[in-house]
Amino acid sequence: TPAAPRGLLEGLNPEQLAAVTAGQAPALILAGAGSGKTRVLTTRIAWLMSQGLATPANLMAVTFTNKAAKEMLTRLSAMLPVNVRGMWIGTFHGLCHRFLRAHWKLAGLPQGFQILDAGDTVAAVKRVIKGMKLDEERFVPKQVAWFIAGAKEDGLRPQDMEQRDEQTRRLVSIYQAYEDQCLREGVVDFAELMLRSYELLRDNAELRAHYQRRFQHVLVDEFQDTNRLQYAWLKMFAPPGSQQCVFAVGDDDQSIYAFRGARVGNMADFEREYRVRQVVKLEQNYRSFGNILDCANALISHNKSRLGKNLRTEAGPGEPVRVNEAASDYAEAQWLLEEAQALHRQGLARSQIAVLYRSNAQSRVVESALFNAGIPYRVYGGLRFFERAEVKHALAYLRLIENANDDTSFLRVVNFPARGIGARTIEQLQDAARASGRSLYQSVGAVGGRGGSSLGAFVALVEGLRQATVGLTLREIIEHMLHASGLQDFYRAEKEGADRLENLDELINAAEAFVTQEGFGKDAVALPVDESGAGYAPGDLAPGLPVAPAPAATPVPDAETGEIMSPLAAFLSHASLEAGDNQAQAGQDALQLMTVHAAKGLEFDAVFLTGLEEGLFPHENALSDPDGLEEERRLMYVAITRARQRLYISFCQTRMLHGQTRYNIKSRFLEELPEPCLKWLTPRHQGFGSGFERGYQQAWERGSGLKSMVGAGRVEPQAPPAALQKSAAAKTGAEFGGLRVGKGVFHTKFGEGVLLTLEGSGADARAQVNFGRHGIKWLALSVAKLTPID
Ligand code: ATP
Ligand code: MG
Repeated sequence: TPAAPRGLLEGLNPEQLAAVTAGQAPALILAGAGSGKTRVLTTRIAWLMSQGLATPANLMAVTFTNKAAKEMLTRLSAMLPVNVRGMWIGTFHGLCHRFLRAHWKLAGLPQGFQILDAGDTVAAVKRVIKGMKLDEERFVPKQVAWFIAGAKEDGLRPQDMEQRDEQTRRLVSIYQAYEDQCLREGVVDFAELMLRSYELLRDNAELRAHYQRRFQHVLVDEFQDTNRLQYAWLKMFAPPGSQQCVFAVGDDDQSIYAFRGARVGNMADFEREYRVRQVVKLEQNYRSFGNILDCANALISHNKSRLGKNLRTEAGPGEPVRVNEAASDYAEAQWLLEEAQALHRQGLARSQIAVLYRSNAQSRVVESALFNAGIPYRVYGGLRFFERAEVKHALAYLRLIENANDDTSFLRVVNFPARGIGARTIEQLQDAARASGRSLYQSVGAVGGRGGSSLGAFVALVEGLRQATVGLTLREIIEHMLHASGLQDFYRAEKEGADRLENLDELINAAEAFVTQEGFGKDAVALPVDESGAGYAPGDLAPGLPVAPAPAATPVPDAETGEIMSPLAAFLSHASLEAGDNQAQAGQDALQLMTVHAAKGLEFDAVFLTGLEEGLFPHENALSDPDGLEEERRLMYVAITRARQRLYISFCQTRMLHGQTRYNIKSRFLEELPEPCLKWLTPRHQGFGSGFERGYQQAWERGSGLKSMVGAGRVEPQAPPAALQKSAAAKTGAEFGGLRVGKGVFHTKFGEGVLLTLEGSGADARAQVNFGRHGIKWLALSVAKLTPID
């Protein structure tokens, strides 16, 4: 056998080496954070190729986040002189997208199908509910969308669903109508990407056989977070008992997606179904210093359901973990900003400093502090650049150029900027479209009168855009569209439009960056080919099977999908799939902001872990549920283990969340960290002290929870505990505790729901609540902790 390239296997410990060079049989690597799982997986890919055991074309590697997939590609190209473009390495969603692009016809999709992001999905569901003339207070679009996503993640189509009661029957019929609408419009949501590719493989034996022949090796990172559908999808590519070799790595202590249907049990199932003989455990941590690791080990030892393993390091204790208490979230942001600047002045790259938070809503304060101080930062996930209104408007026009039947985009901009197309005209149009089962765009002719001619003008505009942009570069297309659509003039005339214009410029920048980074451009037509000459160009995906022909305009292969797509189509997919946020210019050294969920698998020299407050982290949804609490603790374990050298943990006495001020006590997780590893930057019991904590505890025990402790508006950090006790008491006094039928409520176990019915009184008071994927439940108000939400 050929020798491995120099250095490839160097420095691996014996267990890692065994895993990297494991024989051609299913293997499971079960190991803690920072023990080199991802490194082992990546090195194995390089090793397999260097040994001639695999070509770039016949292996597939899957992970969870775009950032992790990118990192894998970067690590890989550093190890081997191989062109990684076009390799099947990516996220589940990314690979499913690529697959559907290649087989759109078999999948029953239009060639130019577009992806609905989370916001679009809710908007689309809302339209369905409206169209069915259902009550939006009973069927809250966001919750129905959640219900549909949950069903899809369980692999269920409307016809597969149990219809126990009237309410579920309605939900299922919305699901059905939503599905019809998506097909008509040629759009797919995230869950659909996964389910549709799974079904296509399941139902098409020829295609399945092709892919099973093609991918000799299937490697999965973060296996603990796969859900049922993802596992089933993997089995389509490499079924148990087949010749192919599945290599799964995971860590049960880092399973943090149970709330989205992830099943740690997949690891045990995998071991059983694939008769795995090679289970490798890694216990040496190469990422973090001792104090950080001791904190992680001590914390996770509080969890009962664990497979059990510990981490050790040879790196020495390192610095203590710094703990900071701030008066408010503003103070916290200011503090971390200054601290991060100091680190940067000492020579640390900003990209090596991460700010982590439990919930997306926390980023706003940090962002505005950074923005005001002129410090470049980049947010992963959350409200992304591509989700801003003006950017979405611009994207909608671009999407119409690609696919005029995309009703979501049509509705977004048909009257934006205003063209005198009123709600009544739109209603007529929607009725006509519904009656004929066609898209809005196709139904324009059915509307008469003045409304009809305005609609006709809009159609002419879109047609004009399409014709005028043929053969243009992506930048030119966007510039032309901004001008011709009237968006630019609209924002120019708007009083506060400067920011929005800047964002539109930023969209052009994002497109430019996309074109250069991904190697798009008029002359970038060469398909990647590896040294062995084995093609993994789009054309060879499935010989003998219909594959997408190249669209006419400037065909270039998409780096993400390997498919022939126009730069515009590729960019639009990128905008919906990627956390492609460009607060910092591409390539600029920027602070990294993200939720703990998004940080999984990543590592940074310095980490700021913010908002360690009861109700926030652990999240209030989880407080009354032991399993939920264990998941929160795993999340905390993930957060801690992201840090290489320095870890800061902070919490605030008050925090503005969802427009209200909360009074906090520090997280129980802080108490679970070993004191000798910590260094308090602020005196330990400052501020409200134990008196405050008692007040909070009482409020909690009365069943009011955090939500009822919020006051209106921003309150001075030193507000006395009495104030919050008063607001807690106010709740119990009100009839049904301020609950109103049709409004949102919050339950500590089932999360957010919509109140359907209120009955009885006193000790007998009951409420019926629709909790979306948790179903509809009757609750006794004397027991259940229900709080109204807006
Ligand atoms: P996580 O569970 O967080 O995903 P992981 O197990 O995937 O972590 P890696 O990210 O692969 O861990 O590795 C953590 C760090 O340790 C990386 O910087 C990696 O390069 C380094 N590392 C792994 N193995 C070794 C080794 N044998 N020698 C030196 N450094 C190593
Ligand atoms: Mg990893």
